[in-house]
Parts: sequence; structure tokens; C-alpha cells
Amino acid sequence: MREDPLADERRRMVEELQRFGIRDERVLSAMGKIPRHLFVPEHIRHLAYEDTPLPIGHGQTISQPYIVALMTEALGLTGQEKVLEIGTGSGYQTAILCELSREVFSIERIPELAKGARERLEELGYGNAHIRVGDGTLGWPEEAPFHRIIVTGGLPEVPKPLWEQLAEGGRLVAPIGGRYDQYLWVYTKERGRAHKRALCPCTFVPILGEHGFPPDEPKKKGPFGLFGPRKTSGEDV
Ligand code: SAH
Repeated sequence: MREDPLADERRRMVEELQRFGIRDERVLSAMGKIPRHLFVPEHIRHLAYEDTPLPIGHGQTISQPYIVALMTEALGLTGQEKVLEIGTGSGYQTAILCELSREVFSIERIPELAKGARERLEELGYGNAHIRVGDGTLGWPEEAPFHRIIVTGGLPEVPKPLWEQLAEGGRLVAPIGGRYDQYLWVYTKERGRAHKRALCPCTFVPILGEHGFPPDEPKKKGPFGLFGPRKTSGEDV
């Protein structure tokens, strides 16, 4: 890998993750290795190792390092797993999964983000990443079952297709709740049944799709703006 002027900042980020309670050495080492600054827009690269989410365009965000570490630790990866990720975004979480598991299948709804992530992962040499554009709430049936599933956006509930595509003994980590605030849950599939454990409250961008949230309502245009006169009868226009 090329010389990295931000290595010191990345080391500090990892120390902070340890102080916050992240223990899994493999997770800490992956986060100490992967250049997060290459996954954020150039003008905010100086903020890449702060413990904060950052905008990545198209109204989406790269998650805060602590949450990435917590979710990855909760997956309990050994290096042998086939993993499904919903919400590729920048591809940063994908890179971490690539370091820690056998093969990663990641689905992103926005084609431009998928393209950017694919290019970054290729450049960094992650040949075990497969990225597809589509509705991740439907999963990736041709590649199922998966040992681990991670969803990096908020969902109203666990999508049925994802649960069906999780292997027996497998684990699924996802933020479940409202459109703009959720709780992070870890689900384990034991003899077909779900055992769940809560991690912490969190705020993710919503997953939009068939088993996710509906797409945003288009804003109505008109001479009166949002607070224009109300119609008292008839159809909405
Ligand atoms: N893990 C990402 C952050 C993702 S933010 C990172 O490390 O950068 C959540 C992402 O989910 C966004 O990129 C959003 O476009 C995507 N998304 C929303 N709904 C989706 C769906 N139904 N299927 C796949 N991706 C979806």
C-alpha cells in the first residue's frame, strides 16, 4: 500500500475505539489498516478519523467508526464466513468485512455509490467483494445462505427474505426502529428461531425498499409552498 500520511490519526482512532470498549483484536487491526480517508469526499478527508458519520453524497453517510466497530464485533467473524451486506455506501464497512471474512456480497440502491465503492475496493485489492445495485431488502437469493448479514441503514423490521437467507447458526446485525432513529440488534438463528440481543440506540439513514421504508414523498410545488391554502374537499393534487 502507498505511503499513508494519516497513519497516526488512524492509530489514535483505534485507541479511542479501545477506550470505548471495542475488544476484538481482529476488528481493531482491520480498522487500523483500512484508509477511511479514501472512502470520504476529498474536501473532508481531514475529518476521516474523527468518531463521526460523514456525508458521502446523494444524501447518504458513512457511519461513525465506533458504530462500524461495534456492528463488526457483534458479527463475530472468524475469516471463514460468507457475508451479505445491505447498504454498501462508500464501501468502508465492506472493506472491513473483506478483511475479516471469506467473501462479501454487498447491495447498494444508488448506482453512483455502488460504482464508487467498487472502484475503491478494487484499487485496495479486495477481490472477495461482490457489489450489486438493487433493493437489498430482497437479499441476494442466488448466493444464499449467508453466515452473517449486516444492514447499515435503518429498517422498520427484519425483512423476511433476509431472515430466510440467513444460515442456521448465523447472525444478523441491523438497526431496527423508526425512519430516523433505531436500536441496534443482533439476531441469531437457532433451529430456525430468532434469539435477539440489543446493543444500543443509533441513528442511521433509512433503508428504502420493498421491506424497508417507502421512498420520500416528492415535495409538492406550487405558488404557496409548503404552507399554501388547504383544500377542504376533493383530491390531493
Ligand atoms: N456502510 C456504508 C454506509 C451506508 S449508509 C459505509 O460504510 O459507507 C446506507 C446506505 O444504504 C446508503 O448508501 C443507501 O443508499 C443504501 N440503501 C438504502 N436503501 C437500500 C436498499 N433497499 N438496498 C440497498 N442499499 C440501500
